[in-house]
Amino acid sequence: MNLTDINTVKKILSRHGFSFSKALGQNFIINPDVCPEMARLSGIEPGCGVIEIGPGIGVLTVELAKIAEKVVAIELDTRLIPVLAQTLSDYRNVEVINADVLKTDLVDIINTHFAGKKVYICANLPYYITSPIIMYLLESRLPVESITVMVQKEAAERLCAPVGSRESGAITVAVNYYAKAKRLFGVDKNSFTPAPKVDSEVMRLDIRKEPEIQLDDEKFFFSVVKAAFSQRRKTAINGISSGMGIAKDKITKALEECNLSPTVRAEALSMEQLASLANCLYKLKQEK
Ligand code: SAM
Repeated sequence: MNLTDINTVKKILSRHGFSFSKALGQNFIINPDVCPEMARLSGIEPGCGVIEIGPGIGVLTVELAKIAEKVVAIELDTRLIPVLAQTLSDYRNVEVINADVLKTDLVDIINTHFAGKKVYICANLPYYITSPIIMYLLESRLPVESITVMVQKEAAERLCAPVGSRESGAITVAVNYYAKAKRLFGVDKNSFTPAPKVDSEVMRLDIRKEPEIQLDDEKFFFSVVKAAFSQRRKTAINGISSGMGIAKDKITKALEECNLSPTVRAEALSMEQLASLANCLYKLKQEK
């Protein structure tokens, strides 16, 4: 069964009375080069376990199943479950779970299905919840090697931007804290059915075994980062002061202690500078 052949895809979907849901971000890959390349560059290897999010009709799933020992694919749309039963019938090493990934205990899935194996995540994400899914995967601190995802090109630019560059934001800092991000290759919008309005890109997040920065309080650090980036193009002082209710003179003191200019913008700060600013503010908060 060729799942990148548009006529085959149409035939299977119409047999199941399936129509695409825009709300669920359903754009299926029909370019035959994309999924094998994505599976290859994700670093998966024989003997490993893979979690896929949103298998759709199973076009990426089969490429993952050809290499990995086992694939668990989590699909929210109940209408796709009988479709996947047909398209994946030759692959005994795939298990499809009908669930919302954001409500799924992935640590439990890893312990149940992949005990003792290296685990990878590989997915063509539904674009309406790209950031929530990526943050959910990272914040769950899953014992996985890497997360390879296809996202909108603009999202890849933001997520993989160097921290301290104009393109960076609070989410760039969060991604960098947990992982090393790398853009892999671009995917033209005509590689999908139906074709979305924008081009896509495949990126890989290699999970850090050790954090790159030392934090006194992780939760406080992320509050500072969120506040500092909340008013883009404005100074970090303004964002932190209004976002966290900290007096500006206190923030100025912390910036001075970190050898940073009082007019610095969040987007100009490196991971180390953001960490020392947050640690300084945290100490001042404890002193009050
Ligand atoms: N992997 C397929 C491909 O590459 O052709 C389909 C990718 S499509 C962009 C996204 C898929 O995610 C759809 O099948 C959609 O139903 C599913 N999806 C949407 N929201 C989801 C959620 N919260 N949890 C799990 N799957 C979801």
